[in-house]
Amino acid sequence: MPDTVSSYPDATGHFGAFGGMFVPETLMTPLQDLAIAYAEARRDPAFQIELDDLLHNYVGRPTPLYLAERWTQELGGAKIYLKREDLLHTGAHKINNALGQILLARRIGKTRIIAETGAGQHGVATATVCARFGMECVVYMGKVDMERQALNVARMRLMGAKVVAVTAGQATLKEAVNEAMRDWVATVENTHYIIGSALGSHPFPMMVRDFHRVIGVEARAQILEKEGRLPDLLVACVGGGSNAIGLFHPFLEDPSVRMMGVEAGGDGIIPERHAARFQGGKLGILQGTKTWLLANDDGQIELTHSVSAGLDYAAIGPEHAFLQSIGRVEYTYATDDEALEAFRSLATTEGILPALESSHAMAYLRKIAPTMSKDSIIIANLSGRGDKDVEQASKYLLR
Ligand SMILES: *Cc1c(COP(=O)(O)O)cnc(C)c1O
Repeated sequence: MPDTVSSYPDATGHFGAFGGMFVPETLMTPLQDLAIAYAEARRDPAFQIELDDLLHNYVGRPTPLYLAERWTQELGGAKIYLKREDLLHTGAHKINNALGQILLARRIGKTRIIAETGAGQHGVATATVCARFGMECVVYMGKVDMERQALNVARMRLMGAKVVAVTAGQATLKEAVNEAMRDWVATVENTHYIIGSALGSHPFPMMVRDFHRVIGVEARAQILEKEGRLPDLLVACVGGGSNAIGLFHPFLEDPSVRMMGVEAGGDGIIPERHAARFQGGKLGILQGTKTWLLANDDGQIELTHSVSAGLDYAAIGPEHAFLQSIGRVEYTYATDDEALEAFRSLATTEGILPALESSHAMAYLRKIAPTMSKDSIIIANLSGRGDKDVEQASKYLLR
């Protein structure tokens, strides 16, 4: 067993009772090889230097840690700092991971990239890095999502990616992941699968986390420079959990720092109307990993709902399941209405349109900040910008 909370997973990819490698036999050896190749890349200074250079000059890091002064005043409690991942190239944190993984894919000699996407944000980040590195790119996307997210489909195609419509089942993210897995089983020889969140079989939850740790590493240095001390509370929205674990991980060994993950409460905690896995979820296995998921009594995966496509998924990343089980990170949820109100509040007070996913974290801030003293400090992750959500937000907020 690893001796500190931040040194998980163990050698078999387990975070306590969660995680692991639940994949078809043909993928077992390729995934073990991938874990070895990643461990080597991680130790290779040349790999890190190239990644850092691209993060700086291509992606736009470091992102600012912005004191939201007007919002802080309006809420009348803790000082609120926003980590501005929304300012990154392509508009969200997902590019941190897509870039890291394509460098790894090139290093191990892969020439073709596949990915799944729900709202299209991860598809866009993957199409972007594929264009940048001249790699063939195939993105699997549910047919329903393609209709809802036509703009992102066009962005991917304009960068040369092939977007494949998945029509099985509900024709959304879960089916797109299944289709990408099917492709990978047949093509793993020349193909790397860039998974878009801290999910799936080992080594993905660890790799995706590591590529997003830069968020927390920067935030830590920035708050120490600005305030001379660590924050009291970190807040982030949790879909698969990649932006949250990226912010949280570098603070896990600091007992004074509380952490809150915010899931999608949809229309409220009613079966099939939300995506809050810690509210009535079950322990199970989905798409390569053991974790909390939303399933019925027969073990069938339930439908989920959220106003934000990026949080609308039945399973949570295994490291979050672990951190919840040991009480290191707390989890709550925000409903669609609360997220939309937070969207409006941040937009009109700070002139920032947050992604609807990030708006869930912002909704929790509106509840918690007023209860905290004026000398306390919160850092919240603004995981993406709301440009993609303008149509949906207008429908609710400009009536
Ligand atoms: C995809 C997405 C999320 C949810 O994914 P995580 O892996 O939980 O971070 C959150 N915010 C934005 C802006 C996204 O695009």
